[in-house]
Amino acid sequence: MDKNFDPATAIQQLEQFGEFGGVNPSITDSATFTFLREDDMIKTFHGEKEGCFLYSRHWNPSNLYLSQALAAMEGTEMAWVTGSGMAAITTAILQLCNSGDHIVSSVTTYGGTYAFFANYLKKFNIEVTFVNITNLESVRKAMRPNTKVLYTETMTNPMLQISDIPELSKIAHDFGAKLVVDNTFTPMIFAPFKLGADIVVYSMTKFINGKNDAVAGAICGSLEFVNAISNVNDGTAMLLGPVLDPLRSSNILKNMGTLHIRMQKHSENAKFLAEKFKEIGLKHVYPGDSEHPQYELMKKMMNPDFGFGGMIAIDLDTAERAAPFMELMQEKGVGYHAVSLGYFKTLFSNSGKSTSSEVPDEIQQEMGLSPGLVRFSVGLDHNIERSYQMIEDSLRELKYI
Ligand code: PLP
Repeated sequence: MDKNFDPATAIQQLEQFGEFGGVNPSITDSATFTFLREDDMIKTFHGEKEGCFLYSRHWNPSNLYLSQALAAMEGTEMAWVTGSGMAAITTAILQLCNSGDHIVSSVTTYGGTYAFFANYLKKFNIEVTFVNITNLESVRKAMRPNTKVLYTETMTNPMLQISDIPELSKIAHDFGAKLVVDNTFTPMIFAPFKLGADIVVYSMTKFINGKNDAVAGAICGSLEFVNAISNVNDGTAMLLGPVLDPLRSSNILKNMGTLHIRMQKHSENAKFLAEKFKEIGLKHVYPGDSEHPQYELMKKMMNPDFGFGGMIAIDLDTAERAAPFMELMQEKGVGYHAVSLGYFKTLFSNSGKSTSSEVPDEIQQEMGLSPGLVRFSVGLDHNIERSYQMIEDSLRELKYI
């Protein structure tokens, strides 16, 4: 971890003013923009003129402000904001790969990403090999001369494995491929670009926005890449049109101002639960546990200011045991039985039956995803001891402990 890189301060240092000296940038809710001179419009279309806005599917000032904040947080030259996390992932991949190309991906990824790779990319004759991303030897073995992308999540969904970004970056670059990393679970905790990733994607629906009131995504990378995806002739973003609405951008930008404090609190609360689960001998996965297989790796790569993250999973062995437990926790007020994550309230779901249900049962089994795995996105609870007590009461009532 680059000790001098401070994502929270990088965001705080941005000075983005609104019209009339507003402390928040003004919202530009215009789809199109006027030009005084025809010549300027032609040059803007050809990418020969800086500083002009053409049309909001291409660029919009509100989206630019949010992109600048994301680029500051990631240490990238630029970013581009999308209407969902899936839009960010699919745009980045379709920009980097052509028909006949090959991708190597962690088998443990968000279910939608898995389905895009396993099913949808067949339409484009793009082949994907899935690997255990923690086994670097098998990753290297899976690479081919036509591999264009090595894909992973820094902290994988839902297994909470940690990807070795510097080593994966070396493997990708040895084969002339790009390392694309989804950092949705761990904004600020990890800075994948600083660790060697080429492109960092986000579902901003989660921690970055933190309010569960919007679906949004981001692609962070070089100016060259962002210019390429927004090129009017062959840019994936410009031509498929997955752009984020500028009204949403302006809301998310304001929420980024509190992200560092929220991440600290999510991590503090999740660590508290992990320690309690350990005390009662409950099978669980938390990367901040010294017994977690990638604990040392995480410590080496992370920004310690933000903790080990707000995601934790417990293993109740079967879906039949997980179901009444989740229902009871919701009844008692632990949080909501809902998919998604990064909300100020605790959310929980059975991964195998929900956000990883796109992954076939035999592959779930192969990758070690227990059918009784309940994934928690731990909220910003002020009294986490009280929340824990409700979890423990639910376990006791069902005679699980
Ligand atoms: N990446 C990860 C790690 C996710 O968990 C999700 C959604 O759950 C996505 C991407 C997709 O994001 P969105 O729902 O914003 O399209």
